[in-house]
This record gives sequence, structure tokens and C-alpha cells, in this order.
Amino acid sequence: MAKILCVLYDDPIDGMPRSYPRDDLPKLDRYPDGTTLPTPSAIDFRPGDLLGCVSGELGLRKYLESNGHTLVVTSDKDGPDSQFERELVDADVVISQPFWPAYLTAERIAKAKNLKLALTAGIGSDHVDLQAAIDRGITVAEVTYCNSISVSEHVVMMILSLVRNYLPSHDWVRKGGWNIADCAARSYDVEGMHVGTVAAGRIGSAVLRRLKPFDMHLHYFDRYRLPEDVERELGVTWHDSVEDMIGMCDVVTINCPLHPETENLFDASMIARMKRGAYLVNTARGKIVDRDAVVAALESGQLAGYAGDVWFPQPASRDHPWRTMPHEGMTPHISGTSLSAQARYAAGTREILECFFEGRPIRDEYLIVQGGHLAGTGAHSYSAGDATGGSEEAALFKTH
Ligand code: NDP
Repeated sequence: MAKILCVLYDDPIDGMPRSYPRDDLPKLDRYPDGTTLPTPSAIDFRPGDLLGCVSGELGLRKYLESNGHTLVVTSDKDGPDSQFERELVDADVVISQPFWPAYLTAERIAKAKNLKLALTAGIGSDHVDLQAAIDRGITVAEVTYCNSISVSEHVVMMILSLVRNYLPSHDWVRKGGWNIADCAARSYDVEGMHVGTVAAGRIGSAVLRRLKPFDMHLHYFDRYRLPEDVERELGVTWHDSVEDMIGMCDVVTINCPLHPETENLFDASMIARMKRGAYLVNTARGKIVDRDAVVAALESGQLAGYAGDVWFPQPASRDHPWRTMPHEGMTPHISGTSLSAQARYAAGTREILECFFEGRPIRDEYLIVQGGHLAGTGAHSYSAGDATGGSEEAALFKTH
């Protein structure tokens, strides 16, 4: 029988909701590319309930305990005295969400003698040292596509919010003002602007598709080109490098995974190549951009705005400069954990666990690492190596 260690974010400060704003979720049959939504044998939760926090337990307890397994759920994940580090030593499976990542560094993996499966309840397994997982033969899996559309909606919201100057204008209302000139002095239309995505995978291409009706000019950079008919349908221009694309874009959105090739991609020199007054939206991973270069570019006017929901490490310290820099539209890491997304990734997590315990193959598209190699989606979208360096600073959230 196995021990499953599950790291989830804290419950709401006033406790679990007693009711929800809506009674149901729309029923989706398939993802946009035709692949099926998660197919566990059953679920023990109500879609639309809060599942991603400690008391939500991803709806897994009944299933796991009725099969004789032990489930430990905690939000205490950072530092050597955390419950996560104490429980890790004999855990067979670690489940973690990118929103509140349990960083599985090489040191932690070395302590986890029984670990066989690192399961990301969401998308993006950069919180695992993939090289260490490869070397130890640990399987890394994630619930591919579960929240890609959720994130694409968030990206479109953030682009419109920045360009139209929504959040500062909203602040004037809250302050009792009617300061139209203050609001309008930084407000533009997106119509006619050039927008480029770094990566046109599930999220990047969904962003392009959603922005097309706004009559923006669409651009992308990706290591592999989209099919010709998709390029034609969207009227999107491919660029053979990020540098080539960003020089002509008014808005840039980052939608690639974090791995050694993309870490620190948007450093000071890359940002300097962007058009003056461009907007940068990053819902991919905080470490893809240089923290201080973003602040400096907003202060100098090189960037007109920056928004995103991803930071490094997470949770971000209370004095993180992105909380107070000018012209920002930051949120905590939430775009992929809407109640709609939670129902999908909780079901996908259960599907992966059922496969793992029943000795059935995990869907190829869910695999990042297996059998000592990058596999499935991992082989396509990631590169081997480690992107967890510096994650121990997440412990600062408790004190700073
Ligand atoms: P996909 O795997 O569908 O797409 C990722 C794309 O990134 C692929 O097209 C891949 O290209 C491309 N890519 C990889 N490396 C590079 C590179 N060096 N330069 C340019 N493109 C590259 O994943 P999703 O679109 O579903 O998700 C993308 C990322 O978004 C996740 O990895 C995660 O980090 C983040 N995310 C954030 C969430 C949030 O809540 N904020 C939630 C979900 C995801 P190819 O395969 O063609 O090589």
C-alpha cells in the first residue's frame, strides 16, 4: 500500500465556502484538439466545488483510503522543518499544484527513497528537478490541457486590462473620484496592435484564436510551426526567433514551459529589444523573465505595462518588488485554478493515480518523464535539466 503526499494551497481565510456563486459548470465533451477530458473510473466530488485547497483534497481521500493507501495533505511545504520535508522520506507519490508548488529539488529527491511518481495536478512540472527525476527513474506526469483554456482567458483579460488601463481606472472609482483624464492618459485600443506569443502550444494558440476577433495582427515564435492551414485560418505570422518577433509587437505574451532553454529568456537585453511602450504578459512561469529587469523597464517606460500570475519562487515574499512596481496587473498564481479547471485536474489526477496503481499506461500526453527519459509531452515541449534553483527562497514568505 502506498503513501501519497499531497501539497495544496491553504483554505480560504474564512473557511471552506458554504455555497458557491453558481450551481453548475458547463459540460465540455472534448478539448479543442479533440482529445478527451480526464476519464477516471469515478469521481467523489461535485464539479464546481473548491478542490485545490487543503480541505478540498482534490476529492481523492475516499478513493485512496478505500484502496488501502495513506493520504497526507499539507500546505506546509517550504524549509527543512516543513511537514512536506518530514513526510517526504517515505512517500511513494507526491502530488503538487504549480500554484503552490512543492519544489522537488535534487536534495529532496535524494531524501525521498520510495518516490516513484511526481504528479502535477495542473500543467507545468518545472517545480520538479527533471534531471534528478530522470536519473532516479521517477515518473513525472501532469494533466495536460486541463487548464490551458483557463489560462488563455486570463491572458486575454490581462492584455485588455493593461492596454485599456482598467485597474487604475477602477481604483479611481473605489477612491470616490471621477478622474477621467487620469484614466484616459494611459488608455488605448488593442485594435490594430501587433501581438506576439512566445510559444503557440495549447495556451499560446488559444490566445491567438481569442484575440483574432479584436482585429489585432497576430505573430508567434515556436520551435515547431503550426500546421499551414491553422496559420492561414488565423492569419498569423511565424518568426524564427523571439528577437525577430518582439521588435514589431505592441503586446507580447509568454506561453512556453520553463526549462533550461527558457529560463531568464526575457532579461534586460531582450526587454531592450522590445518596442518602447510595449506590454508584456506572462502567465507561463516567473523565472522566464528577469525580476529586476521588468521593474526597471516599467520605471523607465520601456514597458508600458506588465501583468501575469506567475512569480518565482512561490509564494512570492511579501516585499517582492512586483507587488509595488508601477503599471502592473499582477495576481497570485490563479489563472489555471478556476473552479472550472479544478474539476478537470482533480479528475485527471485521479485518472493518473488509477493508471499508476492498476499498472495501466498513463496517457502519453500526460507524461513528462518516464523510464529515465523525457517522455510524451515532456519530450516535445521540455528540455532535460533543472529549473528549481533558488526555490528554497519560498520559505521567506513566512517571514518577509
Ligand atoms: P503546451 O505543451 O501545449 O505548449 C507549450 C509550447 O511551448 C509548445 O508549443 C512548445 O513547443 C513551446 N516551447 C517549448 N520550449 C520553447 C522554447 N524554448 N521557445 C519557444 N517555444 C517553446 O503547454 P500549454 O500551452 O498548455 O502550457 C504552457 C505553459 O504554460 C506550461 O508549461 C506552464 O508553464 C504554463 N501554465 C501556466 C498556468 C497558470 O496557471 N498560470 C496553467 C497552465 C500552464 P514545441 O512543443 O513545439 O517544442
